Amino acid sequence: MKTIDDYIRSIPDFPEEGNIFRDITTVISDKDGLQLAIDEMAALADVDFDHVVGLEARGFIFGMPLAYKLKKGFIPVRKKGKLPCETESQEYDLEYGTATIEIHKDALKPGDKVVIVDDLLATGGTIEAAIKLVEKLGAKVEKIVVLVELKGLNGREKIGNYNIASVVAYD
Ligand code: IMP
Repeated sequence: MKTIDDYIRSIPDFPEEGNIFRDITTVISDKDGLQLAIDEMAALADVDFDHVVGLEARGFIFGMPLAYKLKKGFIPVRKKGKLPCETESQEYDLEYGTATIEIHKDALKPGDKVVIVDDLLATGGTIEAAIKLVEKLGAKVEKIVVLVELKGLNGREKIGNYNIASVVAYD
């Protein structure tokens, strides 16, 4: 029986020397890999919640089928300037410079419960920013579900006291 690890392609020295890039395109291009990924992520979303919040772009790939399977709504968190209505914004640090992500202000209301979904947890900066966005709208992050976790980058420590689950973790 194959596990998700068998479908992930690891690329040494991408995008820079010394980094191992975990490529999920080989998971989703395989019909069994795709089923396994969504089924395992769905099993990890074992909390009471109303919406999946997916992070552009690979968080959409996993978040949408997860929302469909679990019969929840899907809310996109997008890069700055893409959402057409009034937004809440959150800036966060990248290795070089900063980035900003946004959510529609009316996408969530106070007390809504969400699961945040992305493909991969590295340093945790992206997910930390997404948590802040959700909380600015008064909603509650019940769980964070990712396919892959890069443990050596200590994303969990950065994110702090939230319920985080990954299908596969690398040291
Ligand atoms: P973080 O903000 O450092 O946790 O980075 C997480 C974001 O970077 C995710 O949205 C990923 O899509 C992307 N990312 C970082 N490293 C990798 C990798 O090895 N494979 C795929 N995506 C990555």
